[in-house]
Amino acid sequence: MNNDIERVLYSQEEINHRADELAAAITEEYHDQNPLVISVLTGAMIFTSDMLKRLNFKLNVDLVDVSSYDGTDSTGQVKLDFDLKSDVKGRSVIIMEDIIDTGRTLKYLVQLLKDRGAKSVAVCALLDKPGRREVSIEGDYVGFTTPNEFLVGYGLDYNNLYRNLPYVGVLKRSVYAN
Ligand code: 5GP
Ligand code: MG
Repeated sequence: MNNDIERVLYSQEEINHRADELAAAITEEYHDQNPLVISVLTGAMIFTSDMLKRLNFKLNVDLVDVSSYDGTDSTGQVKLDFDLKSDVKGRSVIIMEDIIDTGRTLKYLVQLLKDRGAKSVAVCALLDKPGRREVSIEGDYVGFTTPNEFLVGYGLDYNNLYRNLPYVGVLKRSVYAN
């Protein structure tokens, strides 16, 4: 599995350190708000777990799954595959995501939660690829700003593989050129 990686971009140590910083900033803002933390399946699972262990105050956790697909035109649509169990009305919500790419997934989710009456919606993402953005959305808490390369590990997959790598790396082109 490790042989399929071109190079490591962010090691476990670097991610741990950055997670400490992000958690400190989130704690300062949310420690007395009993926020609802929503993890976007499946990619954000590992990052969410790291963050939750660092958020030492009352909060609730929920899960959502969304997928995007490109239709015949280039407007890429997003659909809800697995809904929340929680009522978000009046809640301070923090979305945990693996990566912000075109921004479509998060734009859709943020809008959905606002439509359902969330008091506030913040986005916390491990990675951000601003060079690929197609709709306007920004992360409120971002781990690392990355180059436009296909990344795997730490929850991010290729064909549902590599999620369990304990670092974020660039996948060798030969793996997906086959
Ligand atoms: P967006 O809606 O922002 O274009 O898409 C975000 C989703 O696309 C992420 O949650 C992730 O699942 C996937 N994605 C975007 N860039 C990458 C990448 O470099 N590697 C992997 N494995 N998935 C990515
Ligand atoms: Mg995703």
